[in-house]
This record gives sequence, C-alpha cells and structure tokens, in this order.
Amino acid sequence: MSMLWAWDRILGERDRVEREIRDEDQAREELRATDDDPPTRRCRVCAHEGPERFCPHCLADTMIDVKRPRPPAP
Ligand SMILES: [Zn+2]
Repeated sequence: MSMLWAWDRILGERDRVEREIRDEDQAREELRATDDDPPTRRCRVCAHEGPERFCPHCLADTMIDVKRPRPPAP
C-alpha cells in the first residue's frame, strides 16, 4: 500500500473511508467464498471432476456443471 493510501485512511473523510473499508471487506469475503468452492464440473464420459472446462482425460469439451448444495454457514 502506498503512503498516499495510508494518509487518506488517516486524514480522509470519515464516512467515505468507512464505506471503502466495508467494500474491501465485502470483496475479500466474496474472494474467499469462491476459493473454497468445490469442483463444480464433471465429465459425462469418464466422470472426472474438476473446475476445468475441457476434460484432461478425454481431451474434449465434455465437462458438465454439477450442482452441489453449499454447506450451510456456521
Ligand atoms: Zn473425461
């Protein structure tokens, strides 16, 4: 982070800075949520599961979306 950013955090308008911090926290939450996602595709030929669009075994566009229920938040 730059010095300018730090000064803005210290001297910036309070409302705007608080809103920015909230936005950043929210963006981080969303990033983490996608990180934890299990593989959402399965090959309809060999049943390989993974995030790939093309199956690495069949070397073809055979991956179909698998709908999985999200684990409930604690
Ligand atoms: Zn396959």
